Amino acid sequence: MKIIMLGAPGAGKGTQAKMIAEKYSIPHVSTGDIFRANIKNGTELGKQAKEYMDAGKLVPDELTVKILLDRVAQDDCKNGYVLDGFPRTIPQAEVLENALNELGDKIDFAVNVDVPDENIVRRMSGRRACLKCGATYHIEHIPPKQEGICDTCGSELVLRDDDKPETVQNRLKVYHEQTQPLIDFYTERKVLKTVDGTKDMKEVFADIIAILG
Ligand code: ADP
Ligand code: AMP
Repeated sequence: MKIIMLGAPGAGKGTQAKMIAEKYSIPHVSTGDIFRANIKNGTELGKQAKEYMDAGKLVPDELTVKILLDRVAQDDCKNGYVLDGFPRTIPQAEVLENALNELGDKIDFAVNVDVPDENIVRRMSGRRACLKCGATYHIEHIPPKQEGICDTCGSELVLRDDDKPETVQNRLKVYHEQTQPLIDFYTERKVLKTVDGTKDMKEVFADIIAILG
């Protein structure tokens, strides 16, 4: 099964993608996580990506598309995957569609996690991320067992640089301009499914499972 998660930054794509990946035993592929791992390891890609990410902008398609296509070509992706944060532009969606077409394949579901802008800034300022294993928490809604420490790997949790309120506003603007058109793109391909992302994370997950089967 090949699934795409759509939605504004902070809508809960990553939270749901991790649960989907576990339930269906498919990899969770997050371009944001790949960039953050590169930043942490000081790679050239990381240096280039950081500039855009810190400004709340999208990393250019030329850099993003290649890392995604390389990742989904790996062996563990042969039975499917859940993409989180990709595609974020129409050209990215077209490249993915063409690459899948060449393999006689296609995306099965594009799950749109719908959360209004008003809720987003509050969610993002409360998000805490583990840069080591990619786990995310929320200081009110989904707190870790021990404050500031990742339940999964014991590392320190941080407020991402790009989750500061001034950057979040920019990211929302970029989302509406460049990513929201993907809703029409996947509606036309008859794979778009929208869920109410303002519900509790377990309810959102139940709604998604009901769609994926
Ligand atoms: P995205 O991957 O779409 O950017 P995340 O999955 O990281 O979003 O979620 C953003 C923040 O909101 C995180 O702090 C997460 O713990 C929290 N969150 C996720 N889903 C819900 C939900 N259904 N209700 C409340 N908070 C949530
Ligand atoms: P995320 O972890 O998905 O919220 O992504 C964090 C940041 O990484 C985004 O704000 C972008 O700067 C960058 N990024 C992640 N995925 C993409 C993508 N598909 N295209 C462009 N930029 C991306």
